[in-house]
Amino acid sequence: MAMAMTEPGTLPCLQVAGIQVYLYLDADDHVVRVAVHLDTTDEELLASDGTVPIEVVVGDTIVMDHTGRTADTVLCELLDSADEQQQQAIRDAAITAGLLWRCTCDWYNPGDRPRCDSCASHRPHAVL
Ligand SMILES: [Zn+2]
Repeated sequence: MAMAMTEPGTLPCLQVAGIQVYLYLDADDHVVRVAVHLDTTDEELLASDGTVPIEVVVGDTIVMDHTGRTADTVLCELLDSADEQQQQAIRDAAITAGLLWRCTCDWYNPGDRPRCDSCASHRPHAVL
C-alpha cells in the first residue's frame, strides 16, 4: 500500500512497503532530486544479505537495476576485468556512447561531468 504523507515543514513523501521516497527540486544544485530512505523498509522485502532490491527507471531506461548496477559501475567492472588492449577498446566504445569523455590532460571522465575530475577543465563542446 502506498501512502502520500505531508507534514508541515517537511518534504512531500511517498511510502511503499516502509520505503520512503522524497521528490523535490533542489534549488541550490538546480536538480530534481529523488531521495529514497530504506531504514524503515518492511522486513519481508529485505534480501538475505539485508539489502533492498531496487530498480530505478527514467523514461524507458533502467538507470539502476535490482543488483544496484549503474552504467558507471558496469563500465568499472568491464575495465577492471580487461587487459590494457581491451580497456582501450572499452574506453573508445564508452566515449562513442557518451558514457565517458577524455580531457586534454588524458583523464577519462564520466559522460555527465561538466568538468574534468583531474584538472577541473571544462568539458570541450562536441564537434558536429
Ligand atoms: Zn583534465
